[in-house]
Amino acid sequence: MRIVLFGPPGVGKGSQAALLNDRLGLRHISTGVILRAAIREGTPVGNEARKYVQAGLLVPGVVVRRLAEDELRACGYERFVLDGYPRTIEQAEWLAEFLAFNGAPLDGVLSLRVPDEIIVDRLSKRRVDPVTGENYHLDFRPPPPDLPAERVVQRSDDRPEAIRKRLRVYSDETSPVQDYYRQRGGLIEIDGVGSFEEVHERIVSALTSLVG
Ligand code: AMP
Repeated sequence: MRIVLFGPPGVGKGSQAALLNDRLGLRHISTGVILRAAIREGTPVGNEARKYVQAGLLVPGVVVRRLAEDELRACGYERFVLDGYPRTIEQAEWLAEFLAFNGAPLDGVLSLRVPDEIIVDRLSKRRVDPVTGENYHLDFRPPPPDLPAERVVQRSDDRPEAIRKRLRVYSDETSPVQDYYRQRGGLIEIDGVGSFEEVHERIVSALTSLVG
């Protein structure tokens, strides 16, 4: 099973991909998670990416391409869910070439959709545990009450100015990737409104339809 989970920031890709990892054993490959870890650790990649991530801009493609390809290689090109890659047509073309070269084309691209006002609410109320990477929502999925404050953190790119920037970048640079996949077949649109479990069920039935 080789899939991309696609959609705007805040649509729930990361949480759903983590659930696919837990329940179906798909390797969750998130370029955003890898970049944030690199930034925290102060690696050369992290130092190069920091200013882009914090401003809500795309990190130069060659950097994320390498990160994604390393992860795909590490899982033997099988049983993965990509989250946050590809984000441009150029990245989509790199990915197609890379997977074709390794004899492992995508089975499908699942595009999660929710209205803009829900996206802004989800992003501004999102908190993350830097230790486990777990995502919370202050109203719908509150962090456990005994979790120390330093483990309930707002991502710097979830502040209002960066959210606006990321949504602009999404509509200018990333949403065309959806048409790219639509034209090639294999794009499945999924309603991302509803509970965590409801959306998960929709994803699982889409995956079942993909593998027949
Ligand atoms: P995410 O966690 O997927 O929302 O990603 C957080 C940030 O990491 C994005 O706003 C970008 O700055 C950067 N990033 C993640 N994936 C990519 C990518 N495929 N191309 C460029 N930048 C990326």
